[in-house]
Amino acid sequence: MEEALLQMQEHAGDLRVLAGGTDLIPSMQQKLFEPAHVLDLRGIPSLRGIRQQPDGGAEIGASTTLREIERSEFLRRHYPVLSEAASTVASPVLRNMGTIGGNICLDTRCLWYNQSLTWRKACGFCIKKDGDLCHVAPGGTKCWAVFSGDTPPALLCLNAEIEIASAAGTRRITLSDFYTGLGDDYRKLHPGELVTRVFLPASSAGYRGIYRKLRVRGSIDYPLAGVAVVIKHSNGHIGDARIGITAVNPAPLLVTGATELLSGKAIDDALAEAAGDLAAKTARPLTTSALTPEYRREMIRVFAKRAVLAAAAN
Ligand SMILES: Cc1cc2nc3c(=O)[nH]c(=O)nc-3n(C[C@H](O)[C@H](O)[C@H](O)COP(=O)(O)OP(=O)(O)OC[C@H]3O[C@@H](n4cnc5c(N)ncnc54)[C@H](O)[C@@H]3O)c2cc1C
Ligand code: SF4
Repeated sequence: MEEALLQMQEHAGDLRVLAGGTDLIPSMQQKLFEPAHVLDLRGIPSLRGIRQQPDGGAEIGASTTLREIERSEFLRRHYPVLSEAASTVASPVLRNMGTIGGNICLDTRCLWYNQSLTWRKACGFCIKKDGDLCHVAPGGTKCWAVFSGDTPPALLCLNAEIEIASAAGTRRITLSDFYTGLGDDYRKLHPGELVTRVFLPASSAGYRGIYRKLRVRGSIDYPLAGVAVVIKHSNGHIGDARIGITAVNPAPLLVTGATELLSGKAIDDALAEAAGDLAAKTARPLTTSALTPEYRREMIRVFAKRAVLAAAAN
């Protein structure tokens, strides 16, 4: 591990880490990333594994595969929303390779960006790579490429934290502080830094959880809209609840006001509908994918409502 961090320090700025490689390799083939050095994390055993903490929380190594997270008895029992979200990523083969660290650090996606070099060149490139204009929001200076990982909305609902390491030391931040909200420079990770661990607090254990996603092909595709919901019951009412969304903004987000709206109430159709409306207001999809922004936003509303009803009835 120390050797890896020293290598990252030495080649910072021109190095990419490879975890499962399921997103990195296709991106390198499309010349979206052209690093001089690739550091393979698969030979670092300390980055793998799911460990229960003495206080009842959990620690997950960044190189733990999505398949391990999907199948972990401990996570399925105590943090079911995370296992469910992991089980919807890509396909079984990709989940055997893909890791939780790679899913958290996943590059943002756009119709105009995830293309071959020839295709992008023919369109005059764009702000995210090699150009200075945005085809999605012409005239603007911001990139709206969409964060499209499935596990981060579940992790946000669980108030997860991550550890970031470099040769200079380690720091620990909440996952919600990791994303910038920009489509191009989407994460707060400096050159030479590595995500090493994910922490799930004991206080989030035992919440009922549901994850729902919209995609073109149910067997493999990235989400085009995704909603995670967690609910804790207390005396026949909702004691606490959180809603996270993905694939409709440049960052995965917690829905502001969802906890206040749902806590202390008994669930009925009108309340679930109001939660759906709130989630839809947080979503800001643009024409970055094959499905229309209107449809994706509407599906956030529908999924949030259904997920709240399902989590409350679980
Ligand atoms: C056909 C197809 C379908 C897909 N469908 C989905 C889907 O439905 N949902 C979904 O969420 N994803 C999907 N993916 C993307 C990908 O498979 C997953 O997101 C996976 O979790 C990525 O993990 P990885 O370990 O393979 O990451 P890698 O490809 O190894 O890395 C991804 C990025 O994260 C960086 N990185 C990796 N680990 C770390 C770390 N520890 N610290 C710092 N940076 C790191 C890499 O440098 C790279 O920039 C799909 C990919 C393909 C090819
Ligand atoms: S949102 Fe605009 S700048 Fe960003 S990748 Fe798409 S076209 Fe490029």
